[in-house]
Amino acid sequence: MSPIKHLIFAGAGHAHLFALSRISEYVKSNIRVTVISPGTFWYSGMGPGMLSGTYADAEDRVDVERLVTYQGGKFLEDRVSEIVPHENYVLTESGKKLEYHALSLNLGSAVDDKLVEPGTQNVYPVKPISNFLRVRERILQKADSPEPLKLVVIGGGASGCEAAAAAYRLSQEVARPTLLTLVHSSHQVLDEHPRRARKIMQEWLDEQEIKLKLGSSITRIENQKAFLEDGTHVSFDIAILATGVRPPHLLKVSPLRTAIDGSLVVNNFLQSVTYPNVFGAGDCVSLENQELDRVGVHALKEGPVLHHNLLAYFNGLAMKRYEPQKRYLLILNLSDETGLAIWDRLAIRHPLAFKLKNYLDLQFTTRYQKTVVEKG
Ligand SMILES: Cc1cc2nc3c(=O)[nH]c(=O)nc-3n(C[C@H](O)[C@H](O)[C@H](O)COP(=O)(O)OP(=O)(O)OC[C@H]3O[C@@H](n4cnc5c(N)ncnc54)[C@H](O)[C@@H]3O)c2cc1C
Repeated sequence: MSPIKHLIFAGAGHAHLFALSRISEYVKSNIRVTVISPGTFWYSGMGPGMLSGTYADAEDRVDVERLVTYQGGKFLEDRVSEIVPHENYVLTESGKKLEYHALSLNLGSAVDDKLVEPGTQNVYPVKPISNFLRVRERILQKADSPEPLKLVVIGGGASGCEAAAAAYRLSQEVARPTLLTLVHSSHQVLDEHPRRARKIMQEWLDEQEIKLKLGSSITRIENQKAFLEDGTHVSFDIAILATGVRPPHLLKVSPLRTAIDGSLVVNNFLQSVTYPNVFGAGDCVSLENQELDRVGVHALKEGPVLHHNLLAYFNGLAMKRYEPQKRYLLILNLSDETGLAIWDRLAIRHPLAFKLKNYLDLQFTTRYQKTVVEKG
């Protein structure tokens, strides 16, 4: 048998979950596996539903530590702080140096929080997804106060609209007077989506008691106030930040080739174009010559290809190409038991859209939760 090789999975997100549920296959191929992750897996599609109360937090997560360790892998609760690909090692925040034969990066993306002054409290970015639970707890904590609750959502893209809908639903359920403001820099919400989707979302928002500030950019967030470019401000008890995502900075400062946005450039085998023993998938990568939306659909579809290619890399077998689908279905949970389904230029708001999303999301998470129980 060939000598033991070491594979490091950095991050335990949507793109790695498939491979992490099959760690026993690596172990059988004489590959030692270490997974470095600061925490457990949270499924993004159900995050807003966790805020509104549609889902319990346990329904939205998968215990990756158990998943990994019961199959013979090692789980390290830590973060990669530096990648040194020319010497095949990574450093972690806790000060460990880990050498590898192959490295797979699934570091996700973070919400740009440069507008938030250091030390500012009660501002929750939509990533990590566990923040939706923190916002829920915070709203519930304030439920007994006689003053109206002031909530602001900054960003009117898909995740900002879902977050606003979920927060609105929760505040109605706790029967608490709430001033909810949605601020968006463009003149239309969902401005990166088709016209029909924008129109439906706008009409839905107009029907709710949600104050819209469109065409207004936030310049600074400080002392429970979000300042707008015209000098006015929105005061808040809780702010949700949904201002778009960017890949983690540690990629940009590494010797790996990165794209303009700082994501790792990979070929269709999901392999770094400069270091072939470094792989990557999900929001933290860009395919060379092709732009990808930062959606979980790509991360999830890349998962099986990545798993195949990592095994193929070690075993000297042919790798598979990841060919991204051109169109994909996106369903926004409006937290009123309807969903806004968007497919290409088509969009519809309907209870069946929510039912379909609910079915697909629960099917996905329960499959992995069951694997944990079975392997455990
Ligand atoms: C509210 C919301 C709802 C969404 N809904 C949908 C949807 O319905 N459909 C859809 O297609 N997309 C949706 N998305 C987009 C989707 O969340 C992302 O595209 C998806 O999470 C990307 O998956 P990933 O595997 O790249 O990253 P993630 O699943 O975010 O995983 C990245 C992991 O890396 C870890 N990590 C970060 N830094 C380090 C480090 N230095 N060292 C080690 N680990 C690290 C993180 O802890 C995290 O666990 C939604 C996004 C949001 C915010």
